[in-house]
Amino acid sequence: MNNHHWLLALLALLLLVPFLETRAFEQQAPQSVILENGFSYADLTDKIQILIDPQQQLGFKAISSTGRQRDFRLNSGKIGFTDAAVWIRFSLESRFTTKQPVILEIDFPLIDKIEFYEMDGKGNYRLRFGGDSIPFNLREIEFRNTLFKIELEPGQTATYYMKFTSRGPIQLPLRIWNYQAFTEHSTSSHLWHGLYFGAILMLIVASVVGYNLFRASFFLWYAYYLSCYGLLNFTLVGFAGQFLWPETPILQQYATSLLVNLVIIGAVVFSGKLLDIRKYSRAYFLIFRTLIILALLGIAISLAGRLEIANRIASLSGMALVPILISAAIVTYRKGNFAARYFLVAWGVFLIFVFISGLYYWGMLPYGFVTAHALQIGSVFEVTMLGVATADRVRLLNREKEEADRLANKYLVLLNEKLEDLVHERTVELEESNRKLHELATHDSLTLLLNHNAIIHALESAISAVERHRQPLSIAMVDIDRFKQINDRFGHQVGDDVLVAIANTFTSSLRGYDIIGRYGGEEFLLILPQTNTEDAGELIERLRQSIADLSFTGTQGKRVTISVGMIAYLHGIKIDADAMIRCADDALYRAKANGRDRIEWGNCTTILNKTGCAGSEDGQR
Ligand code: GH3
Ligand code: MG
Ligand code: MG
Repeated sequence: MNNHHWLLALLALLLLVPFLETRAFEQQAPQSVILENGFSYADLTDKIQILIDPQQQLGFKAISSTGRQRDFRLNSGKIGFTDAAVWIRFSLESRFTTKQPVILEIDFPLIDKIEFYEMDGKGNYRLRFGGDSIPFNLREIEFRNTLFKIELEPGQTATYYMKFTSRGPIQLPLRIWNYQAFTEHSTSSHLWHGLYFGAILMLIVASVVGYNLFRASFFLWYAYYLSCYGLLNFTLVGFAGQFLWPETPILQQYATSLLVNLVIIGAVVFSGKLLDIRKYSRAYFLIFRTLIILALLGIAISLAGRLEIANRIASLSGMALVPILISAAIVTYRKGNFAARYFLVAWGVFLIFVFISGLYYWGMLPYGFVTAHALQIGSVFEVTMLGVATADRVRLLNREKEEADRLANKYLVLLNEKLEDLVHERTVELEESNRKLHELATHDSLTLLLNHNAIIHALESAISAVERHRQPLSIAMVDIDRFKQINDRFGHQVGDDVLVAIANTFTSSLRGYDIIGRYGGEEFLLILPQTNTEDAGELIERLRQSIADLSFTGTQGKRVTISVGMIAYLHGIKIDADAMIRCADDALYRAKANGRDRIEWGNCTTILNKTGCAGSEDGQR
């Protein structure tokens, strides 16, 4: 996995520019790479010298002429995008005891055309070709990177020239391998690549499953991003050229250009959805949209065949992408989007590995597993953390939903309680108004005694009660004497006052279980339950006396008297309220006739046979 990821290497370049200069030195004699027994591997990074031919006009004869040798410069092999032809040279010195082949590896599979010139010492040279514009099966050694087999006689020192041209970027990580070491290296390299792409595939499957579970579109965008990103890396390390289009190398160049733009679209849309950027930041929403438009433009330009322009646009957006995503995450996190946490960690860590990778490529960190594979390690971490961020986003969404449910429930309970209170309140009010209504319906508004209907009803109840228990019952019909005169002399208001005063006297003089009602204008019916004739007579007599003794305000000392007709209920004789009242009325009439201010008793037995009531023998009491 020691292939260069040119897009990200450029991003690293951006980060490192302030303190890194391309290392160019004055011309020196090419320093030979020594090959001796036990040799396994050598990095040519610091050993190659470079000559740039901007117009692509020099041939090998011109380049290898002694006059041109001064123009070669030491260079670590970082070229980038160029329309020029890049020439390099390096020397190998064999100290092997036998003739041994070694392998030259150009660990950057995207270079379009590679020419390899080998001098034979007699002024002749042998030219071989490499690069991704050559069909895979025509390669000297079928491997994802271009390889050349070099054979040296023991003690021989040779200088080699190479020419590189490409519409994409050019990086020149060149290595010399002992045959056996290269075999071992390529085996472990394939294992690591397998693990890497396996991990990406697993994440794609997981995100599709995630989409099926949660139906949130950012899962699909995550799967899309991973697919494009995986495919781009598959192409960048040369596997796509080896396995996907071995016979049509032209696809390689379109694929990288298209995939870079598709990856940018995926990263931007997925991040926008995950961060809910539209809701949290209008400015970043517009920046995201601009990146997408640029990427779409890049796709159109690549399809039109202008790959060098499309690649430059893509590398610009690619460089801006990670800083934009990180600052967008910081902004939305500050505005309260907690889903941005893991997102930030994902890209933050990725950036750190890009930085490490940059330091390694520019020679500031030594070769090691982590430094050489920093980009892959970083990207595995990044895509995994993005998966975590996605899951976290779902968790937050669920929590928001639960919280909303909880609130809704709380309000429902509150509403119910309020409703119950209200119903209770209304019930109490209703009972109260019913009570008042009943009071109004059964009571006389002036005297507050039972009204005509109510007192008759009360008498019916009293009759059935005493009938059941064979208890005595007496009633008295009271009429105020010459009441018309009171009204005539003192006015209706004074008459009313007299009525109220007399009613109050009834209430205060009688017992709690006696029932008093206003039968008519100035007529009252008194019901005395469980009271025999004798007691009733005494009670009413005292009452008559009390009223006769009353002195009223407004009547100028004039006394008011009452006449009373009384009757006692007789068991064994079926007599109803109506008949009793008629009989009492009859007695009252006699009281009036006999001079007023007196009590007359009626007799129930007479009612059965006659219509009227007869006065009793002792009616004069
Ligand atoms: P007596 O019964 O002794 O024969 O004479 P009276 O003057 O009481 O007889 P009558 O039945 O002719 O008159 C009853 C009067 O009572 C008539 C009416 O003006 C008066 N009256 C009835 N209801 C009310 C009332 O609510 N307020 C007032 N102020 N007077 C009333
Ligand atoms: Mg009357
Ligand atoms: Mg009267």
